[in-house]
Order: sequence, then C-alpha cells, then structure tokens
Amino acid sequence: MSRHRGQADFLVHATSEAEVGWQVASATLEDGWSRRAAVISSPKSNTLHTSIQLAVIGGGPAGLRAAEVAAAGGVRVTVFDAQPSVGRKLLVAGKGGLNLTNSEQFEHFATRYTGPGQPAGIWHDLLREFDADALRAWASGLGVATFQASNNRVYPQALKAAPLLRRWVERLRRMGVGFAVNHRLTGIEPGAPHRLVFATGEVVSAEAVVFALGGASWPQTGSDGAWTGWFKTLGIDCHALVAANCGWRHPWPPEVLASADGQPLKNIHASVSNHHVTSELLITRYGLEGGAIYQLGPALRGMLEPAITIDLKPTFTHAQLVAKMESVRRDFLDAARVRWRLGTAAHTLLARRVWHDAGALAREVKHCVIPLDGPQPVAEAISTAGGVCWHELDGGLMVTRYPGVFVAGGMIDWEAPTGGYLLQGCFATGTRAGRSAAAWLQSGD
Ligand SMILES: Cc1cc2nc3c(=O)[nH]c(=O)nc-3n(C[C@H](O)[C@H](O)[C@H](O)COP(=O)(O)OP(=O)(O)OC[C@H]3O[C@@H](n4cnc5c(N)ncnc54)[C@H](O)[C@@H]3O)c2cc1C
Repeated sequence: MSRHRGQADFLVHATSEAEVGWQVASATLEDGWSRRAAVISSPKSNTLHTSIQLAVIGGGPAGLRAAEVAAAGGVRVTVFDAQPSVGRKLLVAGKGGLNLTNSEQFEHFATRYTGPGQPAGIWHDLLREFDADALRAWASGLGVATFQASNNRVYPQALKAAPLLRRWVERLRRMGVGFAVNHRLTGIEPGAPHRLVFATGEVVSAEAVVFALGGASWPQTGSDGAWTGWFKTLGIDCHALVAANCGWRHPWPPEVLASADGQPLKNIHASVSNHHVTSELLITRYGLEGGAIYQLGPALRGMLEPAITIDLKPTFTHAQLVAKMESVRRDFLDAARVRWRLGTAAHTLLARRVWHDAGALAREVKHCVIPLDGPQPVAEAISTAGGVCWHELDGGLMVTRYPGVFVAGGMIDWEAPTGGYLLQGCFATGTRAGRSAAAWLQSGD
C-alpha cells in the first residue's frame, strides 16, 4: 500500500521549521500555502470533500507520536491541528526545562498512572511498549541528548522543547506525514469512512482517525476540551475534565502574603486523609502550589471540605523539637526559628498565632492544617483528569463502538503527577494508538 496514494491536494505541509515557536507567521508557509488559501477563500458552504487514509486530529506529543508510528508502519498520515503550528503545549512545557520522563524503577513508574475504571495492568503494558529508555533513545535519535537529574527527572541537555519539536516535525515530513494546521475540527460522523468537518468548511473522509485533542488545561495552546461535547453526543462516555496538578486556593491574610508570597516550604511531609507525600509547597497569593499539593490533588478532589496537613519538620519528632527548646522561656517562635531552622514561609505560617509554650508550637509544626477553598481553574492547571472512559476502549485504544477511531494522550481518563509522567504517558498512548491504527488499516477490517 503506497503511503502517498491519494494525497489530498489541498492539504498543506504547513509546519515548517520557522513555524515551531510562538510567533508563527503565515507568510513563512511554503508552496502549500497558496493551495490552502484557495480552499479557505471559498465560501464555507462550499465544502470540499477529500479522502485520506489516517487522520490524526491534534498535533500535540500524543498525536505526533501516533502519526510517527503509523507512518513508520506504512500508513499515509495527515495531522490536523486547530492552531497555526503544532506542539504548542509542548513548547510551554519547555519553558520549565521539558521534563521528558523519569528514570525511576519501572514497577513503581507504572503505578503513577491512575484513573477510574483503568484496566488492571494497562500501564505496565503501554509502558513496556514505549518506556522511559525508549523515550530517551527516541530523543537521542533526533539528536537531542538527555540527562537524568538527581531527582530521577529526565530533561533534554538544552532544557528546551523547541529544538526537539523542530527536528521531530522535520522527520515526520520526511516520512511523508502531511500537516494541515489552522484546521479546527468541529464535527465528526463516524462510519466507513469517517467524515470529519472542520471550521474552514472542509469535510474530510478518513479510513481511520486518531484523536489526540488533549485535555483542557492551557486552552491558549489549543486544547480546550470542546471535543467532550461531540464525544458525548456520539454516545462515548467521558468523565468531566477537571484540573489536575494545579494550585489550591486558600485566603491568606495580607500579613502572610506580605512576607511569604512566593516563598517555598521545603522538605515537608504533607498529608490528605491517608495519602502522604514528602515534597515541597509554594505559598502564592491565591493559596498553595507545588509538588506536594499536585500529588495530593486526587485525594483533595474527593473531600467535601478539602484540607492539607503539613509536617513542617518531618525529620524531628515532637519530643526532639521540644528538647531543642529546653531553656527557652519566652519569645518561643523567635527561638524556634533559629533552633528548628524554620524558613521564611514556615515562620510566617506559625506567626499567625501567639505561642506561650514550646510544646504547643511543636504540635503545630508537626500538624499544621490548612483548609482549602478548591482547585485553581482548569485553564491554569498543568494537566486535567477525566476524559474518554477506559471502558469505551480496547487494548489498542480503539473506541470499540466505532471501529477505526482511536484515542491517545491527555484526552483519555488518566492522570499522573508531574515529574515527566505526563509526557511519557502521551508518548506511550500515542505509540499504542498509532501502531493499532496501522494494524487495523492493514488488516482491512
Ligand atoms: C505549563 C505546563 C508545563 C508542563 N510541563 C510538563 C513537563 O515538564 N513534563 C511533562 O511530562 N508534562 C508537562 N506538561 C504536560 C504536557 O505538556 C501535556 O501532558 C501534553 O502536552 C499533552 O499532550 P497531548 O498530545 O495529549 O495534548 P496537547 O499537547 O494539549 O495537544 C492537543 C492538540 O490538539 C489540538 N486540538 C485541540 N482541539 C482541536 C480541534 N477541535 N481541532 C483540531 N485540533 C485541536 C490542539 O491545538 C493541540 O495542538 C506541562 C503542561 C503545562 C500546561
């Protein structure tokens, strides 16, 4: 089967090297531009019907990976994206250094992924197909060397996403993958073939489709979660997209913010119900941010009156803290700041009350409860929980009620903490969906 058979003549190979970045000028587009412009300038009611083999809708890491795997399997692939360029959330992740994956032990790694109704062992299976080593080797194949930080997190040496994305798109184009950017999908009609309707007015028929539309965080990067409406209309069960890996609100009094806004609480032990983590928090103008609250988010979401309990000095027992204050008779907090080595944020939290004895102060240090008003808005979260329910999917990530329709990435109902697990999950599900789509197309089902 020829990968280029019937290549749609209006489709643009619009994602050029110059486009991979925020300031993308349409004028940088090459020969495909005039053809695309001809389509766009036609009245929206004059829909153009065209047929392709595999449509990947969404050019984030999950969609690009699915396209790569399917194209390597001999499938003719076109990636459609609503934005003027692909991979915009990946570029945002690059601003934090691009934590690609994590080198922790495999068995533990696979337990990081949670979601209601997740089939037992699914992540072992997905990650066995494309694990952290495979992701590092893949990056290396693009000429992007990676390193492992002391906390097991893996980053590109350059701590940037743009070079990796640029080379990835170049490779995909060399493989024959077509790109149709500025193509917002507005409707789907599953069938044989599937009909895809775009905001441009174009209608595309595709033998198979991989949806990789992302969750709903950072909608300015393109993933706005609008697809949940169409999927529900099609009878595909989806859980609501909610903020994950996000800050939680607490109304700090002005005096706390005056001294502690932006200050970290380092090496703390934090608990929610029977969930415990050792990590850090950041005091912000709206509440709390940071690894500890991200990891405890799923437990917090399940509470009617969410609250986090912090042990500010987890390496000392209550008795050890009191012993360090033996000779102190007054100004307990001032003394504790020095003797217990309290940072600015911890000191500020404790200064909300007046302390008359070391025992009570030590109890508060070991058990500081902060009630929370709720999560930050989903648009500001790093990721979302919710999405296409697992019971709708088979092991190949195909929607069982619509043969030939596959899903990948953040739009499936899984969540994971920060630390490289999110991108690894997108790459692993993209790999599975791309491979399954290729096998399905080639089986002639
Ligand atoms: C600030 C920030 C920092 C992050 N840092 C990290 C990190 O260091 N490490 C890590 O592992 N993860 C990180 N992440 C998370 C990571 O970026 C996401 O998990 C990942 O991008 C999700 O990939 P995806 O392919 O599922 O979706 P997305 O990357 O969201 O891509 C979805 C694509 O679908 C397109 N699309 C949506 N709707 C339509 C439509 N109707 N028609 C056509 N196209 C459409 C969008 O334009 C977009 O290009 C970070 C996220 C944020 C917000």
